[in-house]
Amino acid sequence: MDINTDVVIVGCGVAGLYSALKLPRDKRIVIITKSDAESSDSFLAQGGICVQRDDEDYDSYFEDTMKAGHYENRKESVDIMIRGSRAVIADLVEYGVRFEQENGEFLYTREGAHSRPRILFHEDITGKEITSTLLRQVRKLSNVTLYEYTSMTDIIEEEGVCKGVWVEDVQDMISDKQTQEQPGKQYKIYAKDTILATGGIGGNYQHSTNYPHLTGDAIEIAKAHGIRLEHLDYVQIHPTTLYSEKPGRRFLISESVRGEGAVLYNEKKERFVDELLPRDVVAKAIFEQMKEEGTEHVWLSLEPIPREKILKHFPNICQHCLEEGYDVLKEWIPVVPAQHYFMGGIWVDSDSRTSMERLYAVGETSCNGVHGANRLASNSLLESLVFAGRAAQKIMCE
Ligand SMILES: Cc1cc2nc3c(=O)[nH]c(=O)nc-3n(C[C@H](O)[C@H](O)[C@H](O)COP(=O)(O)OP(=O)(O)OC[C@H]3O[C@@H](n4cnc5c(N)ncnc54)[C@H](O)[C@@H]3O)c2cc1C
Repeated sequence: MDINTDVVIVGCGVAGLYSALKLPRDKRIVIITKSDAESSDSFLAQGGICVQRDDEDYDSYFEDTMKAGHYENRKESVDIMIRGSRAVIADLVEYGVRFEQENGEFLYTREGAHSRPRILFHEDITGKEITSTLLRQVRKLSNVTLYEYTSMTDIIEEEGVCKGVWVEDVQDMISDKQTQEQPGKQYKIYAKDTILATGGIGGNYQHSTNYPHLTGDAIEIAKAHGIRLEHLDYVQIHPTTLYSEKPGRRFLISESVRGEGAVLYNEKKERFVDELLPRDVVAKAIFEQMKEEGTEHVWLSLEPIPREKILKHFPNICQHCLEEGYDVLKEWIPVVPAQHYFMGGIWVDSDSRTSMERLYAVGETSCNGVHGANRLASNSLLESLVFAGRAAQKIMCE
């Protein structure tokens, strides 16, 4: 039951979906995803998506991205992302994505290390708004077939060229019928071009904000085939996830909460860091406090944010905290850093081409150098979309 197609896309987060939408309609496209179509980190994004607000914003946006990345970013990629941002946002709006507006003008929020508000958002569920819209659009396309519970186990390499992927049907894993000894059905998807869009690596960590099935599969496969990788040690720890003794995915308390004024306190009820410094700096300060005080977490107070703003901008966070027993309107919440994002990955050029012919990588699994050593908040959805669009463009031209 092998399949033949023009393009196979592995992963259906924003990067995979946008690639499919930007490819021409006369290409046959197969998208596979290891889980159900809604279970991707793209659905979880809370804070928002960056955009260059106006021409004057270019220099400061560029500098903010470089500074957060410790100036290890690839300048060419940062430039491409910023210059491509407004077109991507216009595209999203055209597809039906709703960003917060007032009197017909976009509203912008701010997160750590941004020198001005330049983040578009939809309540605190921006990722869900964007990704569900893209998924709806992809499902309308007759040239695209989406297979859920289908996991890439390898790529097909012939004489140094990628010819598609090996996959395994993992439907039965869900019901525990499948075991290592009794794997699911395995088959090949042959394709002229292959796009890897498998997201992050958080599933390999005990404490992570990522879905547990995101285990960096494409990275392992690329490594086995001698494909160039970059900065595998550049892992971002998010400073503020809700502390919980339960196992499983950690719930993110978006940086935009601090961007809107929330403050961090230690056990002695003292502030100990500027909350709007880059993520790595804030996370380090929290770890130091926890060590010094022998605590499992620090505290985040939303008191400085007006009540109406909390309810309007962060309804999902309010609700989730309530379910965990904390009323953010009345009390401080315990927060702890957790693995969040992977800046390294499969090395790609500015058209998202890997070092193997006819193999592309987009989104979090790729490393085009935009983020350098540390990602600036809300740059990853944008980066994923801009460079997914470029992969599609390149495939179209070849
Ligand atoms: C809680 C949270 C909040 C965030 N908030 C923001 C934010 O506000 N702004 C922002 O810019 N970024 C944010 N991010 C980061 C951003 O969401 C991700 O970096 C981005 O969505 C990655 O998109 P992606 O398409 O590369 O991967 P994902 O959306 O994670 O999709 C990966 C896909 O690959 C599939 N897959 C994985 N392995 C295989 C395999 N072996 N075979 C088949 N399929 C496979 C998965 O099933 C999934 O469909 C946040 C991340 C998290 C976790």
